Amino acid sequence: MEDLKLIFERGEEGQGLTLLPPCDVEEHFLPEERKEEPRLPHVSENELMRHYTALSGRVHGVNHGFYPLGSCTMKYNPKVDEATAALPGFTRLHPLQPQESTQGALEAVFLCQSMLGEITGMDAVSMQPAAGAHGELTGLLLIKAYHESRGNRARTKIIVPDSAHGTNPASAVMAGFSVVNIPSGPDGCVDLEVLRAAAGPDTAGLMLTNPNTVGIFDKNIREITDTIHAAGGLCYYDGANLNAVMGVVRPGDMGFDCIHLNLHKTFAAPHGGGGPGAGAVGCKAFLADFLPGPVAACGDAGFVWDTPKRSIGRVKAFWGNFDVMIKSLTYLLTLGRSGVREGAIHAVLAANYMKACLQDDFDMAYPGLCMHEFVMTLERFKEETGVSALDLAKGMLDHGVHPPTMYFPAIVHEALMVEPCETETKETLDAAVALYRSLGEAARRDPESLHTAPHKTPVGRLDEVKAARDQILRWTPQA
Ligand SMILES: *Cc1c(COP(=O)(O)O)cnc(C)c1O
Repeated sequence: MEDLKLIFERGEEGQGLTLLPPCDVEEHFLPEERKEEPRLPHVSENELMRHYTALSGRVHGVNHGFYPLGSCTMKYNPKVDEATAALPGFTRLHPLQPQESTQGALEAVFLCQSMLGEITGMDAVSMQPAAGAHGELTGLLLIKAYHESRGNRARTKIIVPDSAHGTNPASAVMAGFSVVNIPSGPDGCVDLEVLRAAAGPDTAGLMLTNPNTVGIFDKNIREITDTIHAAGGLCYYDGANLNAVMGVVRPGDMGFDCIHLNLHKTFAAPHGGGGPGAGAVGCKAFLADFLPGPVAACGDAGFVWDTPKRSIGRVKAFWGNFDVMIKSLTYLLTLGRSGVREGAIHAVLAANYMKACLQDDFDMAYPGLCMHEFVMTLERFKEETGVSALDLAKGMLDHGVHPPTMYFPAIVHEALMVEPCETETKETLDAAVALYRSLGEAARRDPESLHTAPHKTPVGRLDEVKAARDQILRWTPQA
């Protein structure tokens, strides 16, 4: 593939766009030290379009092909959600407008809160947090406020299984707790004996990622929440990946007191460089007074912003990431009750289908049914062929398939984590299975071809250490 020039290296003086009319207002000049003219590219509109179109062809996105990256949940976000969020009635609102003039927007937030409350089995929801980890911090601050409101300052520890998302222990520390890490059993689930030994009068709560980071729904979920409650702690559910269970089971019914959701993973807001997210937090009634405000409420005179009585305070300016809520609300309204459930079922079916097809060719880290994703371990495969999980993943790039998540979770060696999602056809899944198999054969026949892959991408095998240590983050023009 030929080298693509930077936009700054294209065009020449005089070719640029001159769409601006002559200036007809008083001119103000920049300070002396900033007198040098900015180096803007001089390209025609036509050249500009070609440049960015060519660039877009050099990345792999869900519009180009299969994208089974694990621990990321949905990849395809319906376009109608974007269109709704872009309606001028939403985008032209000012955050400081009087509430009487924003009743529609308030109703949208209220509806979104109510639907997410119903899906999770929680009594109250705040849309304030801006991301998943931000939601975790918020939820933990609720737990802290609850214990403190009862005069209990001895509960300083949060139990976090090793199959939790990495943000869980970090959020617990941010909220001022210390973390008790507990190992999982060989089935990938929480070891109940270890949990019972860890829970006690200093336990503030437990954070559980479910399905956990190895794609497993913990089979002892009720025993887990009962154990923590019996010790006087509260149970926090990391619901970032709720799309594996939404409409099927509810964390509120499993004994959880508090939850966050990643609207940018489960409810149709793009994630991963795709713009802002939102980490809605839901809780049971006894925690609702502590929620961060403002939350949308329905009063006698219409919809209002309300701050809960003993609120932990604001966690975000204004009203949270409003456009993200509109995308999620649109998604929920277009799917409806049965569609939400179907989405989860399809995500789980697709993952189990691929897992079943591949289990004779590759070792699975955990046997049996998975949820929305599964983890393979290429430890034995690497010993036999010399080809690592990284090599195999790089090999996929030559065939128009995005690799799965590599070397995560850390508790599985040579891990490849595959998450096909709810939107892929059987043909796409079959083609991906065939590709895994053919790369498996290539590893036995010609391992070198995989050690050096990818061969057909704009950039070949990167030196990952150099990329991490020796970063060039700024383009400097040649004089
Ligand atoms: C992505 C993820 C998070 C963190 O969400 P951010 O929006 O990236 O902060 C937390 N928990 C789980 C299980 C996740 O997958």
